[in-house]
Amino acid sequence: APGAHLIGLVGAGIGPSLSPALHEREAHELGLRYQYRRLDLLDLGIGPDRVGDLLAAARLTGYTGLNVTHPVKQAVIAHLDSLSEEAAVLGAVNTILFKGGKAVGYNTDASGFARSAMGGLAGARLDRVVLLGAGGAGAAVAHALLGIGAGHVQVLDLDADRSARLADALGAHFGRDRITAGPAGDLASALDGADGLVHATPTGMAAHPGTAVPTALLHPGLWVAEVVYFPLETPLLTAARAAGCRVLDGGRMAVYQAVDSFRLFTGTEPDADRMLRHFDAL
Ligand code: NAD
Repeated sequence: APGAHLIGLVGAGIGPSLSPALHEREAHELGLRYQYRRLDLLDLGIGPDRVGDLLAAARLTGYTGLNVTHPVKQAVIAHLDSLSEEAAVLGAVNTILFKGGKAVGYNTDASGFARSAMGGLAGARLDRVVLLGAGGAGAAVAHALLGIGAGHVQVLDLDADRSARLADALGAHFGRDRITAGPAGDLASALDGADGLVHATPTGMAAHPGTAVPTALLHPGLWVAEVVYFPLETPLLTAARAAGCRVLDGGRMAVYQAVDSFRLFTGTEPDADRMLRHFDAL
């Protein structure tokens, strides 16, 4: 029906996702007809290799668009007609819009982190930033940091090939002197004299307890931003607060990512502050 939006979230094991509640509540507040459904590959009994079939089915059955998460953010790209600049540079998509017979991919994790950092780290120095984790979230963060003017980003990952590939892709776009890669073992020397640290590995989630950053490396001149948001207060953030660091949790990135997807799906500007309050209450 005109004016009604049907959205799907595609991923594996997405039962706990807060996205359906976050999107549907905001749509309700705005008086929009909006349904946000989980399309869980595990429930559907299909593998990531069938994501093209799922996209075709969603298109055919009138979906407005899709959010896409682990493990198909890269795999969906082969099934899209075009990509936003960010999604193309990152090689990862978290939002798909079906429009005029075309499927267009976007990456609102990058814009979500940028907005979160501009608000939550306003005025902080960005001359030398260390990024730990070069996976999907780390790539989006790196793009965001360079986009908002970070002087230099050093990317470290246990998988040194992964950090090298990310630095290569973003260096080609933003300038090779602005992003370099190294092994995770370089963390101590990288943090010495750095302005900020963004943690973008899964460490700190229930399934990956602990912290990837030895507490002794935290110093008061360092700001620390977290991408993990489940839980919001990770052992890293607790340690960073205790060490006198300015901190930013992963919640705002998650909410602003949803804000930007919602705008793409509906063409309507959601109330970001209301969505933040709703997220805090969930
Ligand atoms: P991923 O698996 O794609 O990437 C994680 C990377 O971290 C891998 O490259 C891995 O080698 C590296 N790594 C793991 N442990 C490490 C360590 N100790 N030192 C250095 N590198 C290490 O995962 P992802 O999709 O990028 O997700 C990472 C986290 O970000 C998850 O907790 C996810 O929930 C969160 N996330 C948050 C948001 C948000 O909006 N706040 C958005 C996306 C993802």
